Amino acid sequence: MKHRIVVVGAGFAGLQLVQDLRGLDCQITLIDQRNHHLFQPLLYQVATTLLSTSEIAWPIRRVLRERKEVTTLLSTVEGVDRPAREVVLRGGQRIGYDTLVLATGARHAYFGKDQWEADAPGLKTLEDATTIRRRLLLAFERAELAADETGRQAHLTFAVIGAGPTGVELVGIIAELAHRILPQEFRHIDTRKARVMLIEAGPRILPAFSETQSDYAKSALEGRGVEVHTGTPVTDVSAKGIVLGDQPIAARTVIWAAGVQASRAKDWLGAEADRAGRVMVTPTLTLPDDPQIFVLGDTAHVESDGKPVPGVAPAAKQQGSHAARTIRARLLDRPEPGPFRYRHMGNLATIGRNAAVIEYGSFKLRGWLAWWVWGIAHIYFLIGARSRLMVALSWLWIFLSGQNSARLITQKETLKDG
Ligand SMILES: Cc1cc2nc3c(=O)[nH]c(=O)nc-3n(C[C@H](O)[C@H](O)[C@H](O)COP(=O)(O)OP(=O)(O)OC[C@H]3O[C@@H](n4cnc5c(N)ncnc54)[C@H](O)[C@@H]3O)c2cc1C
Repeated sequence: MKHRIVVVGAGFAGLQLVQDLRGLDCQITLIDQRNHHLFQPLLYQVATTLLSTSEIAWPIRRVLRERKEVTTLLSTVEGVDRPAREVVLRGGQRIGYDTLVLATGARHAYFGKDQWEADAPGLKTLEDATTIRRRLLLAFERAELAADETGRQAHLTFAVIGAGPTGVELVGIIAELAHRILPQEFRHIDTRKARVMLIEAGPRILPAFSETQSDYAKSALEGRGVEVHTGTPVTDVSAKGIVLGDQPIAARTVIWAAGVQASRAKDWLGAEADRAGRVMVTPTLTLPDDPQIFVLGDTAHVESDGKPVPGVAPAAKQQGSHAARTIRARLLDRPEPGPFRYRHMGNLATIGRNAAVIEYGSFKLRGWLAWWVWGIAHIYFLIGARSRLMVALSWLWIFLSGQNSARLITQKETLKDG
C-alpha cells in the first residue's frame, strides 16, 4: 500500500505542501471544510465592494485536477484518533493516515467576549466578507430612510476595532466609499458626513511597522476623513454600537479586526499550545512526541532565529514547502532538511486609493509608489492567469472610473433594523 498522507486545510500552508509533493509516489487526501482556497489578504476588498468573491477564491478540486494521486474531500474534521492513526470527520467517518498534516488556520478571538461577534463580525471567510459588505451598503440605505437625525447618524457611523493591516485597509476604503464614491447617489443624506472610526487599544496603529510608517498611515487616514482612536479599548459592543472606554457611541456598523485564535487542532491532538491556541511544534514542524504529525501555518507555534514566526501567508507557505521537503526526504530515504527558518518578506498595508506602506528591514516605502508595488505583489501571488487578469482589470477599472464594481446587496440581512 502507498504511504497515506492526510492534509487538513487547503489554505496557504496545506495547498503549498500538496503542490510541493508533486511527483512523489504516495496517496494524498486533502480535506477542507470549504470547497475553495481563499486569498485572505484581499478579503477586505470583497468586504468593501472592490472585488467580487470569485476573484479571490478558487475551487480546490479545480486547482488540483491534474494530480491523480490527490483526493479532495469537502468535510469538516472534528478530531484525531492518535492511537488508531485516523482523522475523524463530522458525521463520524474516519480517514486513516501514515503522515498527518494539520494546517487549519485561525479564527477571530473576542478575548472572552464571544457575544460581541453577532454585532461586530470579523473578516476571515467569504461569508464574513459578504456579510460586512451587505451591512456597509445597508447602513447607507437605512440612513437614507431614517426618520430623524439621531438614527441617521447612527447608521452613518462605522467603527472598525483593531488597527493592524486589516483594520487600516478596511477604514481606508470605507472612508472612500462614504466621502468620494457615494455622495452623488443619495438624495436625503450627505454620505460625506459619515463618521469612520478606527479604534486601537494599543498606543499606535500598525504596531508591526516602525513608528514613522505608523505615523504616516495615521495622518494619511486622517487626511481621508478617518477618526483614529488609540490607547482606549472598546469595553462593550451591542446592536446599538460600542462603548469606547466609558463613552457610548451609536454605530450600527461595527467590524472586528482585533485578534485571532488558532483553530482547534490542539484539542484534537491533546498537544501543548501557546496563549493563542497554537500548537507548540519542533523546528521540523512536527509534534514533539510524534514526528509523523505536522502542524503548520497559523495553527502552529514555531520559532525562527529566536522569535515566534508570525501568522502571515508567506510564513504558512514556507512551512508548507519545508514540511513537503521533509516528507519527501523521508519517503525517499534521503537526509531531511534542517530546522525550519522563516524568511521575512516584509510588511505591507494599503491605506485606501493611492497610498500604502511597505517595510522590509530598514527599507521603507510609502505613498502612491508603495501602493503600486503592493498591487503588483498581490497580483503576482494570486492563483492562475485568469484571476490575475480579472483582478488587474477590476483595479484598473476602479482606478480609471473611480467606481467600485461589486456593490450588490444580496442575501437576507439578519441584523435588526433599529
Ligand atoms: C482578513 C485577513 C487579511 C490578511 N492579510 C494578510 C496580508 O495582507 N498578508 C499576509 O501575509 N497575511 C495576511 N493574513 C494572514 C494570512 O491569511 C494567514 O496567515 C494565512 O492564511 C495562514 O495560512 P494557513 O494555511 O495557516 O491557514 P488558512 O489559509 O486560514 O487555511 C486554513 C484552511 O483550513 C480549513 N479548515 C479550518 N478548520 C477546518 C476543519 N475543522 N476541517 C477542515 N478544514 C478546516 C479552512 O477552511 C481553510 O481553508 C490575513 C488574514 C486575514 C483573515
